[in-house]
Amino acid sequence: MTVIEVKRLHKAYGEKIAVDDVSFEVNEGEIFGVLGPNGAGKTTTVECVSGLRRPDRGSVRVFGYDPIDQRDKVRTDLGVQLQRSELQPNLRVGEALELFSSFYERPADWRYLVDVLRLGPQLRTRFAKLSGGQQQRLSIALALIGDPKVAILDELTTGLDPAARHDTWGLIETIRDRGVTILLVTHFMAEAEHLCDRVAVIDAGRVTALGSPAALTSRIAVEQRIRFVPSEPIDDGILIGLPEVESVHRHGKEVLVVGNTEALAAVTAMLVRLGMVALHLRVEQPSLDDAFLAITERGPSSEDQSWPPETGTEGVR
Ligand code: ATP
Repeated sequence: MTVIEVKRLHKAYGEKIAVDDVSFEVNEGEIFGVLGPNGAGKTTTVECVSGLRRPDRGSVRVFGYDPIDQRDKVRTDLGVQLQRSELQPNLRVGEALELFSSFYERPADWRYLVDVLRLGPQLRTRFAKLSGGQQQRLSIALALIGDPKVAILDELTTGLDPAARHDTWGLIETIRDRGVTILLVTHFMAEAEHLCDRVAVIDAGRVTALGSPAALTSRIAVEQRIRFVPSEPIDDGILIGLPEVESVHRHGKEVLVVGNTEALAAVTAMLVRLGMVALHLRVEQPSLDDAFLAITERGPSSEDQSWPPETGTEGVR
């Protein structure tokens, strides 16, 4: 069943076209990621889905309803992570949780959210006195407090330390396992690879790729890098003579073969023919980072620093 349907969405701020003909669907129980460089139009897109912005053209449906004109039909089913600036600075964490709970007939157990998001010690702390990571965790708790059927989370784990990020991923997986559909804006490839069933890559207001993280990485023709130590000396010329191989490099006893996606099969078959084996064999596969860079045509050497490498994200290079 389709839970979110975005069709030919357009949104401009004055002269600036932020979203330019974006379409995608999110199915029930799916974690759907929206990826893209800074300023790509991700937040504008999910704000239109949340009913916070009215599209200039195109349509958005959540459970078949317009999230602005039929707000009453979707309000209790939709949980939206607010930007931090939208919370009252003087409100204490416990008060915010009580207040937001009171908006719903059947709220989630906020003590559970407080526990998983490790906000227990901050219950009496005012919002303005929280650290960035604590404010972020509170915004996640408030998005989930109505026990929504759809959660829209923008920059879910930005600013969280690795342990908090890991716990948050666990929380998101738990609520997905209960049938909640999740639309997630993320900058972190590792997060998209870990959590998302499908992702849309948005660049300059347009969807440039759509599919599972695995499908996106397999779609790009990134070179394969094969490292091994041959059981006996082998001449580089034999390997470079294979049509699947682009180059051969030596690091001490180790041979590094760079080739296309068929290179591993070709190299191992050649070694078998020569009566050799590849010791300490390692193959480096393309990651979603590589796919993203290929899709948005931003090489690692690009001057655009809008996509800083994230710690914990493993690339092949
Ligand atoms: P980021 O990853 O940096 O958060 P994003 O992909 O979420 O970016 P948006 O915030 O949707 O992108 O912005 C898309 C474009 O629209 C950007 O060029 C941005 O500068 C512009 N923009 C966003 N909000 C406004 C606004 N309220 N007024 C004018 N321009 C805006």
